[in-house]
Amino acid sequence: MKLSARADKLRPSATLAITAKAKALKAEGIDIVGFGAGEPDFDTPENIKEEAVRAIKEGFTKYTAVGGIDELKNAIIHRLKEDYGLKYEKSEITVSCGAKHTLYNLSQVLFEEEDEVIIPSPYWVSYPEQITLAGGTPIIIETEEENGFKIDLDKLKKLLTPKTKALILNYPSNPTGATYGEDELREIANVAMNSGLLIISDEIYDKILYDGLTHTPVATLGEDVKKSTILVNGVSKSYSMTGWRIGFAAGDKGIIGAMNNLQGQSTSNPVSISQKAAIEAFQGPQDEVKRMSKEFERRKNYIVKRLNEIPDFRCFNPQGAFYAFPNISKFFGRKYNGKEIRNSLDFTEFLLEEAKVAVVPGAEFGSDNHIRISYATSMEEIKKGVDRIEKAVEKLK
Ligand SMILES: *Cc1c(COP(=O)(O)O)cnc(C)c1O
Repeated sequence: MKLSARADKLRPSATLAITAKAKALKAEGIDIVGFGAGEPDFDTPENIKEEAVRAIKEGFTKYTAVGGIDELKNAIIHRLKEDYGLKYEKSEITVSCGAKHTLYNLSQVLFEEEDEVIIPSPYWVSYPEQITLAGGTPIIIETEEENGFKIDLDKLKKLLTPKTKALILNYPSNPTGATYGEDELREIANVAMNSGLLIISDEIYDKILYDGLTHTPVATLGEDVKKSTILVNGVSKSYSMTGWRIGFAAGDKGIIGAMNNLQGQSTSNPVSISQKAAIEAFQGPQDEVKRMSKEFERRKNYIVKRLNEIPDFRCFNPQGAFYAFPNISKFFGRKYNGKEIRNSLDFTEFLLEEAKVAVVPGAEFGSDNHIRISYATSMEEIKKGVDRIEKAVEKLK
């Protein structure tokens, strides 16, 4: 059967191949250290799980309002107000099946042929794909490690055309762990406002921040910025709830309404039981969030130090999220078992074969000089994995 041009353009994730290889090795009984995961290793907090059980027992198991129940929207509104002083109406909130789905819906209702959307690189893998699927054109703005992976304003201005419709921000960032302070955000927002851009701000890691840093949603920078910003967040990362599939968008009523219409013709409501659990996540005690973030920080401090001690590794100090993103380009041109390492995928294969460690090649995120190491795993595994990497790279000549 001939597939649609749309489906033909869809790119399968290159990480799937490496994940499959890691799985195959594991099935053979080989002990692989997994640094690939894009999700917290902690269990979902007990109080949240209890609310889901209660929802099932009480029969809250039917269709709900398409964009989420009012009680959940109120819990989201409460969280945004308490954390950041942001004020939204229920008509400005929609809940989807995970933040990835929220972003997908956004792309579908906003972009079409001729629309250009600026994405800072390194980027989360789904942004370019979702924009392309909608018919829009992703415009990549490279950021440099030396500048802390931050957008260079002159570069940004040069990329703007009359077709530019939106700018995507993701901070703290997956994969780099870089984030923005208020002043930096204000400068970026000024450029966006002067050019009439919409800002899509993916703040899914807002609660996982280190070194005493605080998160500033770009929407807090003034009424005009708030009007032109769609804030995206969810429960997956902060509350260790990746499998529950709850994400949300907050912003312009017109856009939110269109997302509801789209969702009404596709998935309908997010899972009723998960919605009840998410209410507890947003409204209940927040100490577990802090505890998990502290633990991630402890691991970050350890792994970044260790990685930087490995000769020819250079690892940026992440300010948030749970990934280390070391530069491994110094190894390009070196060999093992007669094979030459030419890029991040080769290096990833080398680590899997020689160190029995699974990571994700940076090429997936738009940067072939890096690999992504998730430290959402136990300290014991982190130590074991880094020991193995350290030993394996000694073989590279
Ligand atoms: C994990 C992640 C998401 C999506 O999370 P959901 O599980 O779909 O809520 C969105 N953006 C980034 C940058 C992520 O890392």
